[in-house]
Amino acid sequence: MDTIFEPARRIPVAAEADVCVIGGGCTGAFAALRAARLGASVVLIEGQNRLGGAATSGLVNVWHTLYDMTGREQIIAGLTQEVLGRLDARGALGHTETNPRTSYNFNPCELTILLDEMTAQAGIRVFFHTTYCAAVREADEVKAIVVENKNGRQAIRARFFIDATGDGDAARDLGIEPFKNKVVQPPSACFHLQGNTDGVHLGRLVREHGAEFGLDDDWGWSTFVAGCEGIAMRADNHVFGVLCSDADDLTRAETEGRRLCAAFLRLLQKYGRSDTHYAITNLCSYIGVRETVHYRTRFTATGWALLTGERYEDPILNGTYTVDIHHDRDNGITFRSLSGEEETVYGKGTRVERRNWREDAGLTGDPAPYYQVPFSLLVPDGYKNFIAAGRMLNADDGAFGALRVMVNLNQLGEAAGVAAALCADGGEDVRTIDGKRVTAALRKGGSAV
Ligand SMILES: Cc1cc2nc3c(=O)[nH]c(=O)nc-3n(C[C@H](O)[C@H](O)[C@H](O)COP(=O)(O)OP(=O)(O)OC[C@H]3O[C@@H](n4cnc5c(N)ncnc54)[C@H](O)[C@@H]3O)c2cc1C
Repeated sequence: MDTIFEPARRIPVAAEADVCVIGGGCTGAFAALRAARLGASVVLIEGQNRLGGAATSGLVNVWHTLYDMTGREQIIAGLTQEVLGRLDARGALGHTETNPRTSYNFNPCELTILLDEMTAQAGIRVFFHTTYCAAVREADEVKAIVVENKNGRQAIRARFFIDATGDGDAARDLGIEPFKNKVVQPPSACFHLQGNTDGVHLGRLVREHGAEFGLDDDWGWSTFVAGCEGIAMRADNHVFGVLCSDADDLTRAETEGRRLCAAFLRLLQKYGRSDTHYAITNLCSYIGVRETVHYRTRFTATGWALLTGERYEDPILNGTYTVDIHHDRDNGITFRSLSGEEETVYGKGTRVERRNWREDAGLTGDPAPYYQVPFSLLVPDGYKNFIAAGRMLNADDGAFGALRVMVNLNQLGEAAGVAAALCADGGEDVRTIDGKRVTAALRKGGSAV
């Protein structure tokens, strides 16, 4: 690539804090809230106009169960439970199944407003429309980050930094070792659809008439939007062959994703119910990015350790969500559960393959009721005051397929916030802090780990 020289210049320090969180998805927002509740001063940088990331800008409005596989023991609590409770109190929460322990569906606009309120109540200084651009370091310490917003180029100084950008933008600039998994799960553009689809066989419509609108026989899902009548959240498409941490690919993913949403709408307008007016009432403002690049830390999460229920003395996350891998080329999705069930679904249910991975591996006895990961999953080697938390986590494709959902990443965010506050307070090195102290502080703050 051709290059030019950017002259060095003096820039103002816009803010100074104990903890700076870069990226305000749920992971980043929860990290900021936890750190602030432990008394740290916190700055939160977000490129979009709202907190919540995929849950709000991406319209992804389902959080999975807080219970173990038996449905009896609650294994996730903390901020996830608190936010669900607060959404419920404002009529913005529903259950996606008849069993209330299965999963939760929320109104993403209400979550946006709630996160504004919670961060304001916690005294967090939030910068919207502010993009992280560079990191300034000295030896093994991150001193500041450089951001761009309507005020131009500015610096934020902090004692501890959390990269919650999803793509690990700061981890990349700090030279932490990146890697990509064999399958990079493709992004999807979600939208809100108005119009009754009762009695319309969407899979058949896509198979029979999709080509007329440039639609593949792709796998998708849909759910309701809590508190909104007659509106469905649709996640019908995948954009293949893009890596959304690359600017050109991200742009292509956004336009192709929107084209696919429009194509689905036109299909319904032509072949759906004749007594119904179909319209898109809300389009994601940021395509739903499932996966890009990962960064090495001291612990690599593997699908095997996760699904066989390995235990740790310093857990920071409990979970049950299945390994859920959207293939990157053949329209298939593979689900692999703690219980042993595994199924791969192609197209809109055109073909389903099933097996039991536990039996195939010769495992006997009861399956684990839930999985865990230890604190070292969050800790890279190079820096005393830096953590990356979110979907850039150090996981193989199996573990990533399970850990990538929000009830899990929310917990990683909380643990990052707790570790940051402890380190900033005592001037400690995150590489040597005892993970059991992080677990203890998480429990004290309401987590179920
Ligand atoms: C279509 C789809 C469906 C899914 N379905 C589910 C589901 O049903 N349930 C579930 O729990 N999970 C689901 N997931 C997965 C889950 O939504 C994501 O894995 C999770 O939200 C990622 O969280 P994150 O905080 O790491 O990243 P994000 O939510 O992507 O947040 C990152 C934030 O950082 C900001 N940012 C990025 N770069 C910069 C920068 N340089 N400067 C400033 N800000 C920056 C972004 O604007 C964003 O707000 C789905 C994902 C997709 C795409």
